[in-house]
Amino acid sequence: MPRCPECAGIMKYSRIERKYVCRSCGVAMTMDAIWEARDRQRSSDGDSREDYLEWWLSRKK
Ligand SMILES: [Zn+2]
Repeated sequence: MPRCPECAGIMKYSRIERKYVCRSCGVAMTMDAIWEARDRQRSSDGDSREDYLEWWLSRKK
């Protein structure tokens, strides 16, 4: 399950929108957009590196 790049909330996939929708802040993003946002965050936010790795690994399944 991807985390929201904006607020780190849980994101659920919406089949209607074909996007992941954050349950906390309501932002809707495609997987690619989430990926890009996480990628940009990685350089500035060292604390999320473990989360990032975990998420990246789960992405392969
Ligand atoms: Zn959010």
